[in-house]
Amino acid sequence: MGDSLISLKNVHLTLDGAAGPVKILNGIDLDIGAGESVAILGPSGSGKSTLLSIVGGLEGVSSGQLSFAGRDMTVMDEDELALFRREHVSIVFQSFHLLPTMTAIENVAAPMELAGKADPFPRAEKELAAVGLSERKGHYPSQMSGGEQQRVALARALAMDPELILADEPTGNLDGETGQMIVDLMFGANRDRGATLMLVTHDEKLARLCQRIVRLKDGEIASQEVTDVGRAA
Ligand code: ADP
Ligand code: MG
Repeated sequence: MGDSLISLKNVHLTLDGAAGPVKILNGIDLDIGAGESVAILGPSGSGKSTLLSIVGGLEGVSSGQLSFAGRDMTVMDEDELALFRREHVSIVFQSFHLLPTMTAIENVAAPMELAGKADPFPRAEKELAAVGLSERKGHYPSQMSGGEQQRVALARALAMDPELILADEPTGNLDGETGQMIVDLMFGANRDRGATLMLVTHDEKLARLCQRIVRLKDGEIASQEVTDVGRAA
């Protein structure tokens, strides 16, 4: 395991519900090393998506410490968090969030252009080829199937060469073949580019491809386990 990339210490999140405060996360202590792959398992409502949102800087914490590469994330304002996400994090959701007025290649190139990266279009072309969609680069999202849109979204995410990939049940609503491709590409980025992978899943088999499994229950870490993959690493 490399240096700690993400560190949560006694993280709590309490939100205001109609019937008073609701404890969503309840004292999370978690360290994730650079380049590590970690699966988050747990029943529905246990706080998995919330945990991912906090690590990705999409949601703040009520109390506790949260740092990324030694930088305290709890003191960042909205602009700093947005910049942090753009520079370091790619988030892969079940829904694709592609821009409908842009073609596949424009969707993949846009974040690279925004970030001022060199050669966004050749790079986008390469990433689309990696997800098997070279032929579709001029097509709009509405002209593509759900699985194809998901692959474009993944190409867009990986094109940014993120240090951290956050995936929230990324294969939940896809047919087997596309799901497998997405899994292969995410683990490929983890293995070949050293991206840290944090993956929420219901799939125990998929979780076992990660080096570590963290189980949540009622907003707390119920258990942690190093997998065979983790032991071999
Ligand atoms: P999971 O992804 O494990 O299914 P979530 O992180 O989505 O769980 O949600 C954890 C708990 O927090 C659930 O009980 C959910 O209803 C609640 N929750 C999530 N977001 C909010 C919110 N904005 N306001 C109030 N409760 C929320
Ligand atoms: Mg969820």
